[in-house]
Amino acid sequence: MKRDPRYDILFEPVRIGPVTAKNRFYQVPHCNGMGFNWPQTHAKMREMKAEGGWAVVCTEECMIHPSSDYSPEPQARLWDDRDVKYLALMVEGVHRHGALAGVQLAHNGVGAQNHFTRLKALGPSPQAGIIGVPAQTRGMDKADIREFRRWHRKAALRAKQAEADIVYVYAGHDSTLLMHFLQPRRNQRSDEYGGSLENRVRLFREVLEETKDAVGDRCGVAVRVAVDELMGTDGIAADGEGREIVEMLAELPDLWDVNVSNWPNDSVASRFGEEGAQESYVSFVKQVTSKPVVGVGRFTSPDTMVSQIGRGVLDMIGAARPSIADPFLPKKIEEGRIDEIRECIGCNICVSGQLNFTPMRCTQNPTTGEEWRRGWHPERIPPKGSGARVLVVGAGPSGLEAARALGQRGYAVTLAEAGKELGGRVIQESRLPGLGAWARVRDWRIGRIREIANVEVYLDSALTADQVLDFGFDHVLVATGATWRKDGVGVNNARQIAISDHARVYGPQDVFAGVEIAGPIVVFDDDNFYLGGLIAEKLRNEGHEVTLVTTESVVSAWTVHTMEQHRIQSRTMELGVEVIASHNLTHIDAAEAELACLYTQRRRTIPAAAVVMVTSRHPNNALYLALTSDEDKLSKAGIASVRAIGDCDAPATIAAAVHDGHRAARELDEIPADPDLPFRREHILLDSPT
Ligand code: ADP
Ligand code: SF4
Repeated sequence: MKRDPRYDILFEPVRIGPVTAKNRFYQVPHCNGMGFNWPQTHAKMREMKAEGGWAVVCTEECMIHPSSDYSPEPQARLWDDRDVKYLALMVEGVHRHGALAGVQLAHNGVGAQNHFTRLKALGPSPQAGIIGVPAQTRGMDKADIREFRRWHRKAALRAKQAEADIVYVYAGHDSTLLMHFLQPRRNQRSDEYGGSLENRVRLFREVLEETKDAVGDRCGVAVRVAVDELMGTDGIAADGEGREIVEMLAELPDLWDVNVSNWPNDSVASRFGEEGAQESYVSFVKQVTSKPVVGVGRFTSPDTMVSQIGRGVLDMIGAARPSIADPFLPKKIEEGRIDEIRECIGCNICVSGQLNFTPMRCTQNPTTGEEWRRGWHPERIPPKGSGARVLVVGAGPSGLEAARALGQRGYAVTLAEAGKELGGRVIQESRLPGLGAWARVRDWRIGRIREIANVEVYLDSALTADQVLDFGFDHVLVATGATWRKDGVGVNNARQIAISDHARVYGPQDVFAGVEIAGPIVVFDDDNFYLGGLIAEKLRNEGHEVTLVTTESVVSAWTVHTMEQHRIQSRTMELGVEVIASHNLTHIDAAEAELACLYTQRRRTIPAAAVVMVTSRHPNNALYLALTSDEDKLSKAGIASVRAIGDCDAPATIAAAVHDGHRAARELDEIPADPDLPFRREHILLDSPT
C-alpha cells in the first residue's frame, strides 16, 4: 500500500544539532521497569521501536551518580565506565535500524530514595523528600553544586562513549534536581542559585552549556522541561515562569522536549485526558525558539499528528505509550496501513510494571517486555507448525487475541462466541464513564481477524462439551471468561458473607445489563482495582444515593499503580458518593448492611436497599472441565489438546488475558527448549575476585 500524501510531512527529516532524525517520530524517554537490571530485555525492546520506524529512540531516566538511586524501581545508570556497555547494547540495537539513540541523563535530587546506595539525597535546600521516605534531603553547598556539574559532564561523556546521538539535560516531572532548582517552593537558597528566576535557572544553564561543551560536537543536546506543573501559582506555569524559562534558554539546546508535570499529568490515563491534552500548555514553545520542539499527547492518529505539525504546535511527534502499544506505528503510517495501528488505550498498565519494579506489560501489545526473553516480535510470528484445525471458544480479549495470532500463523481457526457481539468484558467495560478508548482492544483484533481468510467467526454460538466433541477439531482453546460473584467472597472474605433472604444483591453484570436497582445502594469493593469505583460513579451519575464501602483505605486502591487513584478519589467524592474506607461487609439485610472496621472490628449498620458486590470472579470453566474430565472421549473425538486461557483459567487484567491468548497461539506445536523454564533469563556475571 502507498502512503497517503497528507502524511508526507511526518516523514521529513529534522536536524537536531549535529545529528539528523530521519523523520518526525520521536520516542521520548519512558520508564519500562527494565533499566539496567535487565539490559538485554531493555535493548531489544528499544530496538523494536527503531525497527518500527521511530527516528529517535530514547532511554528512560539514566542516573548520573549513586546519590541519585531510584531502587527498587529499575532505571538506567551511568555511574561508572562499566555501565557504558549496557547503554551501548541499546544504542547498537537502535542504530541497526537507522534511528538515533537518546539518553536521558538524570539526577533525582529531592526525589531520590537512595535505598540501595544509602547516600544522602541532595536538594537545592534542606527539605522533606518527595517520595515520602523517612529521610530528608541535604541542602547542597557550592562544593556539592560543583560536584553535580562534574558528575553530569562525566555521564554525558560516557553517553557519547556509548555512541549515543542525543544527550539530555533533564528538568521535568518534579523528580529531577534541575527542576527542583527551578521551583521556588523547593529552592529556598539566598545565593546566586536561588531567589530570582534568573538565579534559579543558573544551574540548568550551566549544565546545559557544559553538556554542549562536552559532547555537543557529535551529540545533539536536548532539554526536557515541564513547562507547567498544573498547580496554578504554586508551581511553574506555562503562562508564567514556564514560558520565561524557555525564553531565557531559547537557542541554547539543540532540541526542546516539553511536557507537563508530574508524571500522572504527563501520562494522564484516558479516563481523565484525551489525545493531545497537553497542547494548550506547550504550544507557546515554538513561538519562542527556532530549535525543534517535541511534545507528547498519547498521539495515535496521523491526522492529529499532521495537525500538530501544520499548526506549528510541534516539530516532532513525541510518544511513549503509543510507541509501547505499537512499536511499528510510524512504519504503518509510512506504508499506508493506518487501520493496522494498534492504538494505545490509555490504561496505564505499562506504568504498573515500572511501579512494581518489573518489566512493563501492555494491554494492547502482548509482546512488549517479551522481545528478548521470549523472542516475540510485535508484527511477526512463526508460521503454523502443522495443518491442525483450532477451535477457540469465547471472543473476549483472550479468545480474540488467540484467534487472531493463530490466524496470523496460518492455522484454520474457528472462533465461536455465545453472545451477539465480539469483545467479552470489553464490550461492557468500555461503556463505563471514561473508558471508551478501551474498546480499541476489541476493535483492533476484530479488524485484523476480518483480514485473515483462515479465521471463521460464529456469533450466537454458546457451545456445549458435546458439541465441541462432535466438531472434531484438533485443538481447543477455551476462553469463556469469568463471572463476578455475588456472595461476597474476595480478598478479605474467604467464605461467603451472611445474606438474608430479603436482601437484594447484585454484581457488576447486573449493572451492565441495566437491571433496575432501587437505592440507597451500597457498592462493596473488595477487588479494589478500577471497577468498584466506576460502578459507584455510574450509579451516582444515574441519580442514585451511593455509598462505596472499600476494604482498602482509599477508593480503587490498586489504581495508584496506574497513576489514577488521586483523580478517582476526588471524582468519587465530588460526585457525592459517600466513601467508607477500611471496612468489611459482614451482613446484608433487606434494608441495611452491617459493616466491620478492619482495625477495631467495631460494627455499624448503614441503609442499603441494594448491594452491588465487586469482590472476585468465578472462572467460567465448566466447559473446560467437562472436556478435560474424560481423556478417552477426547481422544475418540480426535482432540489432541484443550487449554483454558484468560479469565477462564484465572481471572486477571485484560492485559493478562490478551497476553495469555497470545502465548497460547505462539505455543501451539512449539517444542519448548526447556519445559521447566518459560523464557530466557538474564544472569548477573560475578566479578572476578579482587
Ligand atoms: P477473557 O478476558 O478471558 O477474554 P471475557 O469474559 O472477556 O474473557 O470473554 C469471554 C467470552 O466468552 C464472552 O464473550 C462470553 O460470551 C464467551 N463465552 C462464554 N461461554 C461460552 C461458550 N460456552 N461458548 C461460546 N462462548 C462463550
Ligand atoms: Fe497504552 Fe495501556 Fe499499553 Fe500503556 S498498557 S501503552 S496505556 S495500551
